[in-house]
Amino acid sequence: MAIPGHIDPVPVPRPQVASDDARVDILGLSREAIRDALLEAGLDERQAKLRAKQLWHQMYNRGATDFDAMSDIAKPQRAWLAERFKVGRPNTVVQQVSTDGTRKWLLKTDDGHDFEMVFIPDADRGTLCVSSQVGCTLNCRFCHTGTMRLVRNLTPGEIVGQVMLARDALGEWPSQPEGRMLSNIVMMGMGEPLYNFDNVRDALKIVMDGDGIGLSRRRITLSTSGVVPMMEKAGAEIGVNLAVSLHAVTKEVRDEIVPLNRKYGIEELLQACADYPGANNARRITFEYVMLKDKNDSDEDARELVRLIKKYKLPAKVNLIPFNPWPGAPYECSSDERVNRFSDIVFEGGISAPIRRPRGRDIMAACGQLKSAAEKKSRAELDKLAEEKLAALG
Ligand code: SAH
Ligand code: SF4
Repeated sequence: MAIPGHIDPVPVPRPQVASDDARVDILGLSREAIRDALLEAGLDERQAKLRAKQLWHQMYNRGATDFDAMSDIAKPQRAWLAERFKVGRPNTVVQQVSTDGTRKWLLKTDDGHDFEMVFIPDADRGTLCVSSQVGCTLNCRFCHTGTMRLVRNLTPGEIVGQVMLARDALGEWPSQPEGRMLSNIVMMGMGEPLYNFDNVRDALKIVMDGDGIGLSRRRITLSTSGVVPMMEKAGAEIGVNLAVSLHAVTKEVRDEIVPLNRKYGIEELLQACADYPGANNARRITFEYVMLKDKNDSDEDARELVRLIKKYKLPAKVNLIPFNPWPGAPYECSSDERVNRFSDIVFEGGISAPIRRPRGRDIMAACGQLKSAAEKKSRAELDKLAEEKLAALG
């Protein structure tokens, strides 16, 4: 069966938000949608436009969630708004802090699904790793999220809500142009962002909007496992940095560890990278490469990686990710010596290949370790699920 564009390849239940709160949550709506909601609630055209502008500023520049705190709006108007609307946040179930300062949040949607986000502080930057889906339709063999079913796509409000919540926690309101703790965003949490294209695009548009959070597209990276038909559209309509989870250089190995490769092969994927709008030497494409012992980590693999990147003349760098283990994972991480050697070969080929230091492993917050705690499965169940997901890929 085909994966039709950004439509989910596997039919999934989409429960409606079960809430006894009839107010409309305006977080994640576009300016136009907020204006329309105000019109529908009875404001005239001029008022609706003005209020939408004020609300946008209050929500995304000031971080306000309470209409009463919106001092530029007249008091009776604030009460009127509060009766009909709200500014939501994802619900926090637990927050954990790693010994290295990494923070992980287990979050819950209003209809009761768990998902995760991670904040990784560094000396010169702070990166928020944002989820796009609850679970994932794909089943990369080394990824913990891949052992979950796709429960549902996150809405724009739930995606942008992660950024809002992190900034609440960091005390980063109002938005400042410089010196932010949350300086970068990576769409590398749970899920495949290009299978939830519209919602990810709409959320990132809000994050980049200059009248609100105002984070530059150069500080945002979208990671895909290789959904080729959506890559050009992503470049054109979102325009953020691209990271591609390559992880292998032969069909045999990539078919095994990134099963989407059976649908969109390596050469097709690299061609889509070459065609990605906006990629150049100043804005290189990142190839992520997870180091799996005796699977994809030979000298020959490293040389082939260099050859492929050169063949497609890609402005690229390679991020080598030591495999982060999780309970029941079928692989082991390559030795330090192997990872160093691999990195050296790629460097010698003229391509930057830093080794990513794992962060937050002690709280299962590192790459590929995210998975809702409620979703525990036996090995046999995992294998059955993997087969089902593969069958769906055709
Ligand atoms: N679905 C997207 C984004 C989320 S995964 C994608 O696959 O690109 C973010 C990154 O973590 C990807 O490069 C993914 O391959 C990598 N990853 C997954 N499991 C991992 C693990 N156990 N150890 C190290 N990296 C892992
Ligand atoms: Fe999904 Fe990415 Fe994990 Fe693959 S690596 S299963 S695409 S989240």
